[in-house]
Amino acid sequence: MSSYPHLLAPLDLGHVTLPNRVLMGSMHTGLEETGDWARVAEFYAARARGGVALIVTGGMAPNPEGGVFPGAAGLFSAKDIANHRGVTDAVHAAGGRIAMQILHAGRYAYSKDCVSASPIKSPISPFVPRELDEDGIEAQIAAIVTAAARAQEAGYDGVEIMGSEGYFLNQFLARHTNKRTDRWGGDYANRMRLPVEVVRRVREAVGPDFILIYRISLIDLIPDGSTWEEVVQLARAIEAAGATLLNTGIGWHEARVPTIATSVPRAAFAWLTARLRPEVSIPVITSNRINTPDVAEGILADGQADMVSMARPFLADADFVVKAAAGRAAEIAPCIACNQACLDHTFSGKLTSCLVNPRACAETELRYDPTTTPKTVAIVGAGAAGMMCAIVAAQRGHQVELFEASGQVGGLLNLAKVIPGKEEFRGLVDWFAGMLTVAGVKLHLNHRATAQDLAGFDEVVVATGVMPRDPGIAGQDAPNVLGYEAVLTGAPVGKRVAIIGAGGIGFDVAEYLVHSGISPTEDLALWKREWGVGDPADVAGGLAAAGPQPEAPARQVALLQRKAEKLGRRLGKTTGWIHRAALQMKNVEMRGGVSYEAVVPEGLEIGTADGPELLAVDTIVLCAGQVPNPVLADALGAAGIAHHVIGGADVAAELDAKRAIDQGARLAAAF
Ligand code: NAP
Ligand code: SF4
Repeated sequence: MSSYPHLLAPLDLGHVTLPNRVLMGSMHTGLEETGDWARVAEFYAARARGGVALIVTGGMAPNPEGGVFPGAAGLFSAKDIANHRGVTDAVHAAGGRIAMQILHAGRYAYSKDCVSASPIKSPISPFVPRELDEDGIEAQIAAIVTAAARAQEAGYDGVEIMGSEGYFLNQFLARHTNKRTDRWGGDYANRMRLPVEVVRRVREAVGPDFILIYRISLIDLIPDGSTWEEVVQLARAIEAAGATLLNTGIGWHEARVPTIATSVPRAAFAWLTARLRPEVSIPVITSNRINTPDVAEGILADGQADMVSMARPFLADADFVVKAAAGRAAEIAPCIACNQACLDHTFSGKLTSCLVNPRACAETELRYDPTTTPKTVAIVGAGAAGMMCAIVAAQRGHQVELFEASGQVGGLLNLAKVIPGKEEFRGLVDWFAGMLTVAGVKLHLNHRATAQDLAGFDEVVVATGVMPRDPGIAGQDAPNVLGYEAVLTGAPVGKRVAIIGAGGIGFDVAEYLVHSGISPTEDLALWKREWGVGDPADVAGGLAAAGPQPEAPARQVALLQRKAEKLGRRLGKTTGWIHRAALQMKNVEMRGGVSYEAVVPEGLEIGTADGPELLAVDTIVLCAGQVPNPVLADALGAAGIAHHVIGGADVAAELDAKRAIDQGARLAAAF
C-alpha cells in the first residue's frame, strides 16, 4: 500500500472526480506577461505530468482597474482566449486539470485607477482607491462574471475566485476597509453581499459542470478583520451560491505577521480549515507552509481538510505527486519557503523561478537533456553550487566525481540549518545528499583535491566556496573575537555580544544568539504567541489582544554595519521585514553608520556620528562578508589545467544559494 493513502485518494466533485487530493495553489509567475505562451503552457503541463490533481493559475485580472499592476494579464480579447486555450490544451494533453484564478486587487492594485469599498489607502500601496458607486460595483461583478465565462471558453476546468489575502472582495467583507452605509456596507449581511453575488452570478454563467473554487480568508490578521462567526456565515452563503470547493486564505498582504515564510511552522494554519470543515458540506482545501507529502498526508488523515493546496512546492519540484506515489518522496526537491527566487522576484518585477530548481518557469529554456557524449567530470566542493552541478551532470549521463575536503556535504547550508527559523535547510541538505547517490555521483569526502587529482578529467569544476573576509580591526585576534562559523558550530558566546556586519549572515547569527530552547518554528503555540496570532473567534481579524509575546532574549545583542542605512535593507524583499521585526522583538540594537576602531578587553570601540563609544560586550562576532577561496583555481591555472569556477569561489559578493545553484545547474546543462 502507498505511504500516502489519503493524499492519493480520489475526490468526487460531482461532475468530475479528481485523482488525488493535491491542488497546486495560485502563484504569480510573470510568465503570462512575457507573451511567450509556449513557455506558459509548458510550465503548467510539466506540473500536470507530475500528477497534481488540479492546478490553479496565477491571478488573472477581470478588468484593467482590478489588475495587480498596470498591464497585468487577463482575458480581455479573442487573442487572450486563444493564448489561454494553448495552456489548457497542453494541461489536458498531459492528463491534468486547470482552473483559472480571477484576481481583482481592489485597493492593492498598483494604479491610481484602483477601486474599493471605501477610499482608504492600504499601508502597502501609495494609491487611495476610488470608492465605487452602485453602478461601479455592478461593473466589477460583470467583469468577474465575464472573465469566468471566458475562462470556460478558453477550456479551463474551473475558476478560483480570489476572496482572501485582503484583495477586492475581502475589502468589502471587513469593517477595516468597508465604511459604506448602503446595501454593500454596514452589517455583515451587506458586507458579504458582493462576494456572494459574484459566486452566484458566476455559477449562473458557467453552468453546473464547472469547478468553482472560492478562496476564503479564515484569519485576516489585521485589526477589525472578520470574526469567526462571519467566516462561517460567509462560507455557508458561498456554498449556497454554488461554489464547488472552499480554499483557505490566510492573512492580508498588509498583515505584520508572517504567513508563508520559512520561519512559519509547517501547516501553521490548518487548524482553521479543520474548524471550518464541519460547518459546510462542500470540500475544503487547506494551505500555507505545507511542503512535504508527509505533512500533507497527516493533515488529511487527521480530517483537517479534504484537499491540500501547495504552491511554491510545485516550483521546487513539478513531480511532487508522482514521486510521492512511486515511493520516491525523498527525491522531491523541497521548497524551503525562502521566497528568494519566487516572491522576491515577483516583487522586483522579475520572472519567478526557484532557488532549488532553476528550471522552474524556464522549462523550455534550461534543459537537462541526456548527453550524447558522456564525459568524465570532476567537481571540487560539495556546497550548493558543486552539488547541483554534480547532480545535473550525472543525471545527464556524465561520469561525475565530487571531491569534498570536509567530512560532510552541504557547505554553508550546514550553517543555515542551525539558525532558529531556518530548519527547512536540513531537508534541503538531506535532499542534496540523497540525490548525489540517486544520480550516481562518486563522492570523495575528507579529500582535499589537488591539481594532480584533477588532471585527466574532461571537465574540471572548482566550487570551493568562500573564506570569511578579514575586516582588519585592531585587536581582532583577541580571544573575545569569534568568526561566525565558530559561533554556529557551538563555540561558547558571552551574554553581551556585538556582531560586526549586518548582511544575511549577521542577521542569522543575531537570531541564533537571541534564541534559547526550542525554536518557535517547531512549536506552533510558541510561534503564535511570539507573533501575536490569536483566534478570530475571540478577536475580529485574529490578532491576539495581548499583542506579540516573544520569549525574553537569551543575550543582549548589538548588530552593526558601517553603511548609514537601515539595517537589513538588502535582505529579501518579502522577508527582510520579518527578520528585522524578529530581532526588534528580541531588543537587538541595530546600528548603522559606525566604524570599528579596536577590540579591547572591555569590548569594542566604535566611532559614531556623535563621537567614539565603547560597546561593553563579552564577545564580538565577525560577519563581515566573504571573499572567494582562490587556492585551487590558482593551482589549476599554474598547472595549465582548464577549469570552470562556480558559486562563491567565482563571485563571493552577495553570494547566495540561489545564484550558486543556478550557476551549477546551468554549467552542467551545457556539458
Ligand atoms: P553580506 O551580505 O555581503 O554582508 C556583509 C556585511 O559585512 C555587511 O553588513 C557589510 O556592511 C559588512 N562588511 C563588509 N566589509 C566589511 C569590512 N571590511 N569590515 C567590516 N564589515 C564589513 O555577506 P554575508 O552576511 O556574509 O552573507 C553572504 C550572503 O549569504 C548574503 O549576501 C546572502 O545572499 C546570503 N545569505 C542570505 C541569507 C538570507 O536570509 N537570505 C542568510 C544568510 C546568508 P558594511 O560594509 O556596511 O559594514
Ligand atoms: Fe520555495 Fe524558495 Fe523555491 Fe520559492 S524560491 S519555491 S520559496 S524554495
